[in-house]
Amino acid sequence: MIIIDGSEGEGGGQVVRNACALSLVTGQPFQIINARGGRDKPGLMRQHVTAVEAACAIGGATCDGLSVGTSEITFNPGSVSPGEYHFAVGTAGSTSLVLQTILIPLLLADAPSRIVLEGGTHNIYAPPFDFIARSFLPVINRMGPTVDTKLVRHGFYPRGGGRIEIHIDPAPLQPIACEERGAELSQAATATFAALPREIAERELKVVRKMLPEWPDDALAIRELPEEQGPGTILVLEAAFEHVTEIVSGFGKLGLSAEKLAATAANRMKGYLASNAFAGPYLADQLLLPFAVAGGGSFTTVKPSEHCRTAADVIARFLPVRCTFAESENGSHLVTV
Ligand code: ATP
Repeated sequence: MIIIDGSEGEGGGQVVRNACALSLVTGQPFQIINARGGRDKPGLMRQHVTAVEAACAIGGATCDGLSVGTSEITFNPGSVSPGEYHFAVGTAGSTSLVLQTILIPLLLADAPSRIVLEGGTHNIYAPPFDFIARSFLPVINRMGPTVDTKLVRHGFYPRGGGRIEIHIDPAPLQPIACEERGAELSQAATATFAALPREIAERELKVVRKMLPEWPDDALAIRELPEEQGPGTILVLEAAFEHVTEIVSGFGKLGLSAEKLAATAANRMKGYLASNAFAGPYLADQLLLPFAVAGGGSFTTVKPSEHCRTAADVIARFLPVRCTFAESENGSHLVTV
């Protein structure tokens, strides 16, 4: 039995999700103790429980001790059954984090799957739908499988009620090298809002115009959603290159000014643009799992985060692969699996 101390490294929910995915892919059971031990409120929250339940449903797995607040679970994988699934993440829990848990096992299945996920689609501390659709999945699709995804309805915290649909055509994951991002092709800054004053989105874009002056005016857009999808706002900054699209988001939350939200996002985008790395910090931690399952591959990234290094440690518990991080002269890092 693989025993994982969930307080080690980054100590968050990603450890639990990656362990479930790896367990389903390798057939090895695991026990996690001190789940989310690195967080102020340790133990599994509703959205982590839903992610593990989803892993059990698609993987014929059982999980002992699974409940909200628990710090210890034992996961016994079964065999993965592709097909039609519908998971509702209570309230506004992140749909993309559930997808992270079940995607890789379903990519390797012997038939297609169609997944409907309901909950939050644009949650702070989770990949927003746009990131999944236009940054993460294009890399997965280059590795062999075909995954299409559709945003049917936005879901913001705390109301939720969002819906995404995913269609997965499986194929073996092939190792790929993602070291160059290629020429910059286009930029887009979209300030989306629902049930909030339009002026918030205008202020977000004003900051973007000032901080990213080289981005053309027609790259900046405001999108108003129907009232009932709000309240919520998200600023999505998108830089498309030949081989990758980087997406940086600013999530609206009570007490955070539109200016601050936009300045933080613009600064992050500037940092990425100033490097010549393929993957930003979030894409990097999310690519390790598929690359490890593919049995190899490489990508460049800005600076490996604690999330990334922790993902590498969890992977090493299940698979005979090692992830190495090497700094190059220009300050970016080469990650090799
Ligand atoms: P907690 O941190 O409370 O345990 P969690 O389950 O959300 O909760 P993390 O372990 O922090 O867990 O994992 C968050 C995941 O969301 C990581 O894979 C990270 O790359 C991704 N992520 C967070 N913010 C963004 C963002 N703005 N864009 C893309 N991905 C993001």
